Amino acid sequence: MAALGGKVAVVTGSTSGIGLGMARALAGAGVNIVLNGFGDAGAISALRERLIDEFKVKVRYDAADLMKPAQVRGLIERSVAEFGAVDVLVNNAGIQHVAPIEEFPDERWEAVIALNLSASFHAIKAALPHMRRRGWGRIINISSAHGLVASVQKVAYVAAKHGLLGITKVVALETAGTAITCNAICPGWVLTPLVQKQIDELARRENIPEAEAKRRLLAEKQPSGEFATPEQVGGLALFLCSDAAAQIRGAALSIDGAWTAQ
Ligand code: NAD
Repeated sequence: MAALGGKVAVVTGSTSGIGLGMARALAGAGVNIVLNGFGDAGAISALRERLIDEFKVKVRYDAADLMKPAQVRGLIERSVAEFGAVDVLVNNAGIQHVAPIEEFPDERWEAVIALNLSASFHAIKAALPHMRRRGWGRIINISSAHGLVASVQKVAYVAAKHGLLGITKVVALETAGTAITCNAICPGWVLTPLVQKQIDELARRENIPEAEAKRRLLAEKQPSGEFATPEQVGGLALFLCSDAAAQIRGAALSIDGAWTAQ
């Protein structure tokens, strides 16, 4: 992985969960990191310091709200201005909303599509010219098992994650003759704050202990009966950045405990 040393990665939504797992994996390979996402200012600052101490790389934090296209472009332009490049772009920031379609609030539809789908379009559009200029790049879109199959009550999320696979394929085609690749990772259940919220809701609704809610969540979808981890998703992202992955293009790579094998 020595070849990655000194490169620059923008990882959206990396103050938590899967994004943080990927930021850590890339930093471990010597990649300078632009962190992005929301959270407590003190906790984010501590996170940044920890990455710098542990991995001896440069780390910036950018508070861009990626629901706003101008701020997505700003994130990319500030990364180039301050770190000189965006070599790796990980489109990871995402939110969920769970409700039947008849009750699905319009505003939640717009928000999920804006962050989980449109932000990736705007980020790729802004970053690609810089990757072309440097003649190398890796674009990794975090889709989901819900990019490949559906579940009830997740209309906006499933639409966005399917759409993200479409973006991935188009970008892979448009960069096919270059050293820039674009792929998607499709995780199943990974235990992060986004999923913990769904576990808490299930426990409350069914009046069951948290451990039972976790078991039911996994039993319903994920045959391995185990959560995937942010570290495992980070490991796959790192592999996609390697030379070994140079001809993996436009792929949707599952890491889902056999969820979508069914
Ligand atoms: P998470 O809630 O732990 O992290 C989401 C991140 O996005 C946080 O850093 C948050 O601050 C950031 N974010 C939220 N709104 C933002 C905005 N407007 N602008 C910028 N950043 C914003 O969630 P996670 O589970 O780590 O999810 C990360 C990605 O992985 C999402 O795209 C999600 O859909 C996808 N995913 C998660 C799972 C899972 O089981 N956890 C499975 C499949 C796919």
